[in-house]
Amino acid sequence: MITVAEALDQLFALAQPTGVEEVPLLQAYGRVLARDVASTRDQPPFAASAMDGYAVAQAAPGDVLCVIGESAAGHRFDGAVGPGEAVRIFTGAPVPPGATRVVIQEDVTRTADQITIGERLDESDNIRPAGNDFQAGSQISAPRVLTPNDIALLASMNIAKVPVARRPVVALISTGDELVMPGEAPGPDQIIASNTMGLHALLRELGAEPRLLPIARDNAASLKTVLALIDDADLVITIGGASVGDHDLVAPVAEELGMQRAFYKVAMRPGKPLMSGRLDRAMMIGLPGNPVSAMVCGHVFVAPVVRAMLGLGAAPAGRKTAPLAAPLPPNGPREHYMRAVLTSDGLRAFDRQDSSLLSVLGAANALVVRPVRDPARNAGDTVQFIPL
Ligand code: AMP
Ligand code: MG
Repeated sequence: MITVAEALDQLFALAQPTGVEEVPLLQAYGRVLARDVASTRDQPPFAASAMDGYAVAQAAPGDVLCVIGESAAGHRFDGAVGPGEAVRIFTGAPVPPGATRVVIQEDVTRTADQITIGERLDESDNIRPAGNDFQAGSQISAPRVLTPNDIALLASMNIAKVPVARRPVVALISTGDELVMPGEAPGPDQIIASNTMGLHALLRELGAEPRLLPIARDNAASLKTVLALIDDADLVITIGGASVGDHDLVAPVAEELGMQRAFYKVAMRPGKPLMSGRLDRAMMIGLPGNPVSAMVCGHVFVAPVVRAMLGLGAAPAGRKTAPLAAPLPPNGPREHYMRAVLTSDGLRAFDRQDSSLLSVLGAANALVVRPVRDPARNAGDTVQFIPL
């Protein structure tokens, strides 16, 4: 049995970056920027007015200036402004040559083609210099998960096609004679395949492209038939059939098909029977079947692997710290991921931690991480957790 940290290292060694593709800007939200991109233009491309008012060469309280024209957004004034003159100007319009400031319209009185500067002139020049926001050559650095704000900046830089990491294609395979798909009518001995659905959602959230394969039954022929459908997947995830029971076929069948196994068991709870290796060009991860084990392994192993494939670096799931709201018993020889609720009082682990209890996982918003042989902890002690 290896530790969680050792298992992660081995997984990162197997995870291959998916490479780069270009997508239209409108499809870039949520994707991982794969290469630095640079603006080819200044923004604003000209000195622009920050206010509605009058562009002037000079102004002092009481001055009377002659309005010689207008500069609006998208329509510059063709000419310069000199002493004794003013150009009517609007927000975003080019400031004409000769102007040193924009006097806001609230600070002048207008009569026909003249303005009189008021007594309380504001201090600012109300001009945004060319390149004030960013200049040609300004970069957005990769890698980063593109947010709505990034999309606005990319658009402003006129970057219409964005180099992003290709989404890893992930084939998801449930195994078990007892499983039916949600919405089907289960027989008396059957249950609903739940992990595949949860992992599908997790993979989508991570920016992968999950593909749900048919459920493999508990015989070698069925499992081989389904494994033959993995096609161009970058990652194959099997669920269940990974222990050492008579019906646990994943490891022997995958090995028969040529899988090179990297490891088999990990010292963690929930989730001990975890397996990984390489099957042809795809990486393979065999998750335990117990629903909570599968989802916890999804957060602890699959998520970091997908992020590594997307070029976001080889890092474990992000952890935070918080005080305990209630004591915890000592931990045993396996790293324990305890379902818990974090409130303003601190972290409170659920009493029931059995790995079959999805209802407890659904009620949790944190996984408290208990190191191997962690002693008993008191209320108020600070512990690490993974936010859910
Ligand atoms: P196994 O690892 O195949 O022995 O499965 C362990 C437990 O998880 C059994 O109770 C299975 O019925 C259950 N299980 C396996 N796969 C799934 C799945 N995809 N969804 C829900 N439960 C599952
Ligand atoms: Mg099974």
